[in-house]
Amino acid sequence: MTQYSRRDFLKTGAGAGAAFLAAGRLPGPAAREAAAAPPAGPVAVSSGNGIRATARAMEILQSGGDPLDAVIAGVNIVEDDPNDMSVGYGGLPNEDGVVELDASVMYGPTHSAGAVAALRNIKNPSRVARLVMERTDHVLLVGEGALKFARAHGFKEEDLLTEKSREAWLLRKETLSDGDFWFPPRNRTAPEALRSVLMTHGTINCIALDAAGRLAGVTTTSGMSWKLAGRVGDSPIIGAGLYVDNEIGAAGSTGRGEANLQTCASFRIVDAMGRGRSPEQACLEACQAVAAKTRLVPRLCDDQGRPKFGLDFYALNKKGEFGAAGLFPGGRYAVHDGTENKLREMAYLYKPGR
Ligand code: ASP
Repeated sequence: MTQYSRRDFLKTGAGAGAAFLAAGRLPGPAAREAAAAPPAGPVAVSSGNGIRATARAMEILQSGGDPLDAVIAGVNIVEDDPNDMSVGYGGLPNEDGVVELDASVMYGPTHSAGAVAALRNIKNPSRVARLVMERTDHVLLVGEGALKFARAHGFKEEDLLTEKSREAWLLRKETLSDGDFWFPPRNRTAPEALRSVLMTHGTINCIALDAAGRLAGVTTTSGMSWKLAGRVGDSPIIGAGLYVDNEIGAAGSTGRGEANLQTCASFRIVDAMGRGRSPEQACLEACQAVAAKTRLVPRLCDDQGRPKFGLDFYALNKKGEFGAAGLFPGGRYAVHDGTENKLREMAYLYKPGR
């Protein structure tokens, strides 16, 4: 007979049932059918900046590796890349010029999760998040505590601010207002590359299903650029930036975290898939929920009552079906379906010009 320690009980098992209880019902027929159907993996899905991540994840999945290893190895490529200014090393800093990273991971077979928020000096927050899941009794560590934990596990501290991201921060600071004491150098024309990052956000989400029907996911980001120090977005919040239920599917998000924090979209999407919605339909419903709540906040709406920000969702179900949707057209996401790795068009809520 299998022996379970208190720790095993705390870290596994109970969570899946708890999620359904929280929703006030048992898994619907679609969830049961998905759980009984033969697994349709491997499949890896990521945000549009994740085409290298899905390629790497698929290599690991196809060689029989674990889906959590696969998605983390995939996003590590982007975390390490100084040219992606929305994630990890080279990510755009907060208003003080300090890079603060958020990340979460979730592993379907044990329904376990780990996350870090406002983590400084460690370029792979996704790996620290995994250790929070596997080597503590907690789910989320923040700030100084997260850094202390990373140090304890031997992570190397480094300055995550690249010259390019420092210059972008400085340019923004010097051009923000005529009423302060910062001036851009005389005759300076901001290079186009810097202008384009004056206000930006971005993140990478990667979710995967392996051939044995195991699901896992990760979301990692430097968050909204120029944010207040200590601001935490949706990426490290389980149920907002990431959610995985091994009996149903996985979902993640990129875009304005505040809107997602107020709608818990990843949980909604997985829950909707459990009620039989396709991944794309579930993502669109999350977009509708965000749009409906945003109408209550005029400063966030354009003159037609549509959100003035972007927010995108990605989903993958237990049958290996995938989909994505955003508020506006033009978004693409990366999918490796086991045969082909390519960017695909995302569904969207608002038609152009309406
Ligand atoms: N969701 C991230 C955050 O709000 C940023 C982004 O994806 O653009 O921190």
